[in-house]
Amino acid sequence: MAVLWLSEISKDDVSIAGGKGANLGELLRNEIPVPNGFVVDSRTFVEFIEKTGIKDDIIKILENLNVEDTEQLNEVSKKVREIIESAEIPEDIKKEIKKAYRQLCEEEGEEVYVAVRSSATAEDLPDASFAGQQETYLNVKGEENVVEMVKKCWSSLYTPRAIYYRIQKGFRHEDVSIAVVVQKMVNSEKSGVMFTSHPVTGEKIAVIEAVFGLGEAIVSGIVTPDTYVYDRTERKLKEVKIGDKKLMIVRQNDKTVEIELGNKAKERVLSDEEIERLVGIGEIIEEHYGHPQDVEWAIEKGKIYIVQSRPITTIGEKGEKEEELEEGEILVKGLGASPGIGVGKAKVIFSEDEISKVEEGDILVTTMTTPDMVPAMKKAAAIVTDEGGMTCHAAIVSRELGVPAVVGTKNATKVLKDGMIVTVDGDKGLVYSGALRVEKKEVEEKVALAPQIITATEVKVNISIPDAAEKVAKTGADGVGLFRIEHMILGLEKHPMKYIRDGEIEEYVDVLYKEMKKVLKAFYPKPVWIRTLDAPTDEFRAMEGGENEPIEANPMLGFRGIRRDLVEDIHFRAELRAIKKLIEEGYTNVGIMLPLITSVEEVRKAKQIALEEGLPLSKIEFGIMVETPAAALIIEDIVKEGIDFISLGTNDLTQYTLAVDRNNENVAYLYDETHPAVMKLIERTIKICKENGVKTSICGQAGSYPHVVEKLVEIGIDSVSANPDAVQMIRETIARVEKKLMLEKLRKLNF
Ligand code: PEP
Ligand code: MG
Repeated sequence: MAVLWLSEISKDDVSIAGGKGANLGELLRNEIPVPNGFVVDSRTFVEFIEKTGIKDDIIKILENLNVEDTEQLNEVSKKVREIIESAEIPEDIKKEIKKAYRQLCEEEGEEVYVAVRSSATAEDLPDASFAGQQETYLNVKGEENVVEMVKKCWSSLYTPRAIYYRIQKGFRHEDVSIAVVVQKMVNSEKSGVMFTSHPVTGEKIAVIEAVFGLGEAIVSGIVTPDTYVYDRTERKLKEVKIGDKKLMIVRQNDKTVEIELGNKAKERVLSDEEIERLVGIGEIIEEHYGHPQDVEWAIEKGKIYIVQSRPITTIGEKGEKEEELEEGEILVKGLGASPGIGVGKAKVIFSEDEISKVEEGDILVTTMTTPDMVPAMKKAAAIVTDEGGMTCHAAIVSRELGVPAVVGTKNATKVLKDGMIVTVDGDKGLVYSGALRVEKKEVEEKVALAPQIITATEVKVNISIPDAAEKVAKTGADGVGLFRIEHMILGLEKHPMKYIRDGEIEEYVDVLYKEMKKVLKAFYPKPVWIRTLDAPTDEFRAMEGGENEPIEANPMLGFRGIRRDLVEDIHFRAELRAIKKLIEEGYTNVGIMLPLITSVEEVRKAKQIALEEGLPLSKIEFGIMVETPAAALIIEDIVKEGIDFISLGTNDLTQYTLAVDRNNENVAYLYDETHPAVMKLIERTIKICKENGVKTSICGQAGSYPHVVEKLVEIGIDSVSANPDAVQMIRETIARVEKKLMLEKLRKLNF
């Protein structure tokens, strides 16, 4: 059997119709008018590779493949896809696909355009989009073309990512298959989107946007659509706002073209009756899925079609557990730097020589952690330090490791004694005497978007320990907005300049390459912005071979960041060479980010060096940190130098703007990322970058604070890079702000 009609399929047919096919069939069964079509089922693909005899060839090519070798993986994928695409489909299968297409045309009364899409089957479903099985061919017409595109969808089962994913999951190539959905494309006279319920409050109020022609006009934002607000409780159209639509997009032959609307631009798109029908269908979908929906619809020859439906907001679901502590005696107070509660025996250490004292489940207490203490930090149930603020080593690393931490207590190493049992509250920044009872309680989740919140503003994550990359990638972040390599380098056996003095530059390049690869691989193909070394002299002095570090009265204003990279360009070049090697292996998801920029010349020189080292800057993203008032105030000149992005380093930007040492707990009360002076610098930077087509992001600690992120999304930032523990919270914050902005926009339109 090659073909199943959508009307014959239900949600239980995933294994033969794939997820997409089964979902469409299920909608049709529930009388939701999706465009007519059929599925070339997964058994057909198996029949195709068996009858043509290519199955063994495919399996053979895939044998002994090392998926970690990106070049080899790409090559194998290419070969397998070529084999599939050049094999002749057996006549009986072809005949059946062509017959189905002809029948579809007959039913529609004309030769129709169809969309041909691959539809992943059960095994690949949990993360089908990750597996890359989303091949879609639009505007396909004619039976020969349909057959060809079906074959192309089949070959998408072997994209490099799909192969990689299956091997990682332990699936056998012999066992996988793929279905293909062939569905009529609606040539709409009218189209648009509908929220079946209020996007923020969940009230039963439907909001519809509508344009003439195809829906691309709304998605691309080239016209102002009509907006209709319908109260589902009162069954009444409450508001109508006619947009100035100016033009519409229509399909002519197999192209889409824009047509001026003239007088029709200000005509109302939807009649009352059409709105009621649309809302009715929206209610059935909402009921069916049990969630308010964000629906894409189209009307052709008076008939409504539902082209796409996704859940929006679910309110008041039972969510995560929240930990609550019983009352207790507070021993020390500091900053809650990494959330969670840890109970255990205190172990006070003053240097890395003592780390063996710390056993699994102990509370590590120290003045300030160093990279050499990371093994002990991994074992600890919680970490407490005398010094530091929210961006000190202990804070950053413990958040990445998921260990609760309290920093900047001033006196923990004096008050807490070895062997004392204590309870550390990493949220409130408190350390209690004894083992307090921890109560886990169910909480109402504020707003959870199902199945995964998709935000227009990207939510990325900061990382500094490559070994944590796999775990951090599970946050589902849209990439890495800051890979701080200094923590990784501080963890190497010797100072970068010592490698160089010892004539071991190649070893240094190699170790950088290996460590960077861990992160690029864990996130591939999502972007990873590697920040070149920002090495403060005081931190690097402790390393083997670090004795030559200059003694500086104020290292924060000293020999660090790009200024140092340009003087000691030998280690800067080593980083670039490691990155180049990774690009050559196919990791073009890498981006380069320059730290502590204060002048145009620094950007120019760094770029020059990158070009000298042969980096293909046109293939990758190249950008800077804006973490000095100087960079923010001359950003218009810097963008002219040719950068792809900027990332706001608010940790430094705040300390340099307010003259407040970020690690000095005595002035911590003055440290405020939302100080008007800091916000002014941020606003101008985002505005000027936007005007010049340069992407904007934030990777300072403020990117993990909802109250700051809210403001940045309002200003129009493109992405936010948060600490691993804050990714989900920030995602929810952004989703809410984006919805709020949309709602405000609607209200401004007089609703
Ligand atoms: C910053 O300054 O905001 C930043 C992200 O860099 P770092 O904290 O590593 O100085
Ligand atoms: Mg900084």
